[in-house]
Amino acid sequence: MKRVIPYSHQLLKETIHPGDIVVDATMGNGHDTLLLSQLVGETGTVYAFDIQKQALKETEQRLFAHNQPQRQLILDSHANILNHLSPEHHHQITAAIFNLGYLPGSDKSIITTPDSTIEAVTHLITHLKIGGLIILVVYHGHPGGDEERDQLISSLASLDQKEFDVLRYGFINQKNHPPFILAIKKKPRK
Ligand code: SAM
Repeated sequence: MKRVIPYSHQLLKETIHPGDIVVDATMGNGHDTLLLSQLVGETGTVYAFDIQKQALKETEQRLFAHNQPQRQLILDSHANILNHLSPEHHHQITAAIFNLGYLPGSDKSIITTPDSTIEAVTHLITHLKIGGLIILVVYHGHPGGDEERDQLISSLASLDQKEFDVLRYGFINQKNHPPFILAIKKKPRK
């Protein structure tokens, strides 16, 4: 059985093709931004968000070290995505990924919050292509994590099953609040 992070990457690899438009909603140290960049290639577009300058610096260095082109590294909340999305990319997003919680090795008080996460997901859902995918890796062991987890689950559970598949994937016998995946896939219209 795949662990949570490898499984999130598998889902991204199955969904993203060269030239696609994708979003890293929580850039952090840039591991996901790097994967997204490699998957979309030279002709694709990556929008990556974080509210900490350090994340942009780390990610820029990581992309450079892996010979990736410069990407749109945006110092702003993912909730403000519509202020940054080019009009030609409206309704054209193939995939987005969130890693919720705080950046390991950094300020643990800077965490993702229910309101901004749900606002970002709502905008992304609107601008997702048919067949597109949003992945949230939910870390919930820190203060505030349980609130974000519960609000998110309740919000995603209300998505119309005719339009979206919503998956929860994780291990239920691991200690210490194991992370899990919530994945939203936009279904073709019938
Ligand atoms: N995927 C990252 C990586 O590869 O290193 C790890 C992400 S870390 C778990 C969560 C990140 O979300 C932190 O860097 C934090 O600054 C960022 N964050 C918190 N609130 C945010 C918001 N409203 N918009 C964008 N990023 C946010």
